[in-house]
Parts: sequence; structure tokens; C-alpha cells
Amino acid sequence: MNEVIAANKGYAAKFGDKANLAMPPARRFAVLTCMDARLDPAKFAGLAEGDAHVIRNAGGRASDDAIRSLVISYKLLGTREWFVIHHTNCGMEFFSNEIMRGLLEKSLETASLDGSNWRDTGAGPGSRAGDFIEWLTIKDQAQSVRDDVDRIASHPLVPRSIPIYGYIYDVRTGLLVEVAGARRAAPAADGKAV
Ligand SMILES: [Zn+2]
Repeated sequence: MNEVIAANKGYAAKFGDKANLAMPPARRFAVLTCMDARLDPAKFAGLAEGDAHVIRNAGGRASDDAIRSLVISYKLLGTREWFVIHHTNCGMEFFSNEIMRGLLEKSLETASLDGSNWRDTGAGPGSRAGDFIEWLTIKDQAQSVRDDVDRIASHPLVPRSIPIYGYIYDVRTGLLVEVAGARRAAPAADGKAV
């Protein structure tokens, strides 16, 4: 905790004129991506403070709450295009609803990955409350990007005019790779999708 506060003091000391930044993102886009510690959207997408909305959760999935943020991003803060970015070697590929629920039922302590199997070595009691959560795990990276772009694009609160792009970030190279079939294009001038 102390190192976070110390780093923050250093940051604030060089804050410059960022107090004058406007609330709406200057570059008018939003990114939905995974919370994975290896991903730094500010760096991989070249963002500075004030540039864009970055919405993060486990997997970068189009959960109800991610959609809530995207709708606010557009409706109140004027973003014009959205990116859904999942990534290779995502932790969400390594478990299922059943596995997560089983682990939580046994113990709330951190589980360990034993080869390709999760194992609980922590003490109980656990909780069955995990049964009520859809953990939005990932079986196939490209398909999860397509599914999330489709879910956002077809949501009743999302206007058809917002282009949505689907990418996978490669944790070995730092490159963003577009996912085929995971793009909702901007409408042409005649209103038809291009
Ligand atoms: Zn991830």
C-alpha cells in the first residue's frame, strides 16, 4: 500500500495542466478489455489522460455492467467508436463456471493451478454463493470476441450507428490482431451497414 501512495505523490508532483482536462474523452472512443496485469491499454493503444474510456473486467467480457459503462460512455460522454479487446493466454480460458463454483464451495482462499487442474489447498468453509454468478469464462478467444461484439451491437440501448471493433492482444508480441467477423461497421451515408 505504501508504495502506491509514494508513487502517487510522485505522479501528482508532475501533474502539469491535467487539472484542465475535460470529462468527455478527447479521442472519442472506448475500450473494453481484460483486467490482466500484462495489459496496459494506455501503453498499447497510445492513450494519455483524458483520451479515452477504458472499461476493464475479467476477460474483457460484455457483461451487463460493461454495457452499462459503454452506454454511459456514448449517451452522456459522446464516444463514437468502441473496441472489444481480449487477449491470448487469458486466465478466463483456464476454468469453467462449474470449476469456479466448486472451488469457492470448498474454500475462499486462493486456489492453485496444478498442471491444468485447479486445486483448493486453503481452509474452509467456502460458500455456494458462486452458484449464482455467471463467470463469463472463455472457451475460444476469437469466438468470445465475436460473441461480445455481437452482444453489444445488438443491445437495445446501443445505437446502430456505433462502429465496434474486435481484437485480440497478443501477450507475447504486444500486437493487436483483428478478429475476423468481429466488427460492426459504421453505417454508410445511406444508413446501411457497410
Ligand atoms: Zn484476461
